[in-house]
Amino acid sequence: MAKGTLFVMTGASGVGKGTLRERLMERVKLYYSISMTTRPPRPGERHGVDYWFVDRERFLALRAQGAFLESAEYVGRFYGTPRAPVERHLARGEDVLLEIEVEGAKQVMRRAPELGIQAVFLFIVPPSLSELRRRLLFRSGRLDEAKLKEIRARLARAEREIAEAGELGFDYVVANDVLEEATAALERIVRSERLKARRQGAALSRALARDPELEAELDEMERWMVERGGTGN
Ligand code: ADP
Ligand code: 5GP
Repeated sequence: MAKGTLFVMTGASGVGKGTLRERLMERVKLYYSISMTTRPPRPGERHGVDYWFVDRERFLALRAQGAFLESAEYVGRFYGTPRAPVERHLARGEDVLLEIEVEGAKQVMRRAPELGIQAVFLFIVPPSLSELRRRLLFRSGRLDEAKLKEIRARLARAEREIAEAGELGFDYVVANDVLEEATAALERIVRSERLKARRQGAALSRALARDPELEAELDEMERWMVERGGTGN
């Protein structure tokens, strides 16, 4: 069986990756890899659903053991993709979705060939930096100095990443302006990747099959057409 494809969705914080991921997963079957992080949960976030929330010691111990496919420090917190579940699902032929920041995506880009992982990199961009700022502010709820500082750090980082994106070798860039359009674009990408020849072994085998009953009918039709000198058309 062909291994699954790893879809790596990346882009600035606040650009709408989480929102797009949820919508995309309603339309195509994907295994979502739950990340581990040392940041505290936001209201409503659940352990084992949104993230695996762990403390710094546990994260660093796991990282030292090589338990992550990639990991990065982001605005003072660690984030990482547990490697084992990703590899297990890909081996079963399932497609896996990662939603990670850009440093982590770059690590996956470097490591995927040596790990035998077929990966597709999707870079999500905001319609503009100002709209990104608006989304970060709106998402934050009540604002204080510390939160504002974090938002500014996220915005500065976003600007650098978008400026460099052209050279990074992403497969697709999707602008998240109208949510429905961006979701539809992602759906098309996933479906198109699934049509690639390396994933179509079963379709190729089926295309070589012959149906004995239909073959017999066609043999008869051939004889009849030859006798009549054509189909009559
Ligand atoms: P990320 O996961 O990239 O950090 P989120 O999915 O949390 O981003 O989105 C950040 C904020 O922007 C959220 O409040 C979300 O509702 C909003 N948002 C996402 N996509 C759009 C969009 N296309 N138009 C307007 N707001 C959006
Ligand atoms: P947040 O704190 O807003 O949930 O996430 C901050 C950033 O970290 C987002 O851009 C998010 O996509 C990214 N992120 C989430 N999980 C991972 C992960 O496992 N690895 C990496 N490198 N980034 C992650």
